[in-house]
Amino acid sequence: MKQGKLLYAGKAKSVYRTDTKDTLIVEFRDDITAFDGGKKDTLKNKGCYNASVSAFFFGYLEKHGVKTHYLQMLDDYRMAVRTLSMIPLEVIVRNVAAGSIVRNYPFKEGIKLDPPVIVIDFKDDSRHDPMLNDDLILALKLATPQELQKIKKVSLEINRLLSALLAKQGILLVDFKIEFGRQGRTIRLGDEISMDSMRLWDKKTKESLDKDVYRFNKGDVMATYNRVSHRITGDSAHPAAAKKTATAQKKERGPIRPAAKSKTEKR
Ligand code: 5GP
Repeated sequence: MKQGKLLYAGKAKSVYRTDTKDTLIVEFRDDITAFDGGKKDTLKNKGCYNASVSAFFFGYLEKHGVKTHYLQMLDDYRMAVRTLSMIPLEVIVRNVAAGSIVRNYPFKEGIKLDPPVIVIDFKDDSRHDPMLNDDLILALKLATPQELQKIKKVSLEINRLLSALLAKQGILLVDFKIEFGRQGRTIRLGDEISMDSMRLWDKKTKESLDKDVYRFNKGDVMATYNRVSHRITGDSAHPAAAKKTATAQKKERGPIRPAAKSKTEKR
């Protein structure tokens, strides 16, 4: 498959056209950002860890009947995916109170949310992704009532599957953000599921194993991503990532083009 023109560049991923029908390439870059892009860095191998965890989760979910955009990994950083028409919703599923709901509501950090809480934000940079409710989603015609029902049902199913999978590795799935798109009438999970979009805590120590390490300077984020990605995927190592120098990787992947559009990320 030949990589074509850059379609979109977000803060940490770029999406390219291909010469294959209905297929795009998502490149997980080594960039990391937080707080509306207020904090940003480029960390060697970061993209590869997020790509491998995303691919692992997508594969696992597909095996358990969840429709996703995932097709295959092309190399350590690039994923072939089905073209979707993305729905501008950020669906956040929370099992434990942390992050913005602790800041915005009288929840004590660490309390269990049972049943899980679904929060849906409007993916709109210029408005800083405001929280929606069902009436707003329908009034804005972002999804039909049937689609909204499906999105919530699939999100809870994804939560059930990933919570159980991670629990086996001693990891608590605190919360995560997912995005969906349409392929014809079919709703598929798109975007990514990685340490950048989830909150993961070690079950015993409650240590953060995700982007909070970067957000709040809790330690060496790359060491965390390395450890947790191996813990999740069961890989003993990412040999390619370990061997290649940053320059070699850049040469292989070609220069990263300037962002066509920059996604404003709140977190
Ligand atoms: P919070 O609302 O507490 O900041 O985030 C809840 C969860 O959703 C966290 O796991 C966070 O990483 C994820 N999340 C929320 N919004 C975004 C976003 O715009 N980008 C990414 N990558 N993750 C997000």
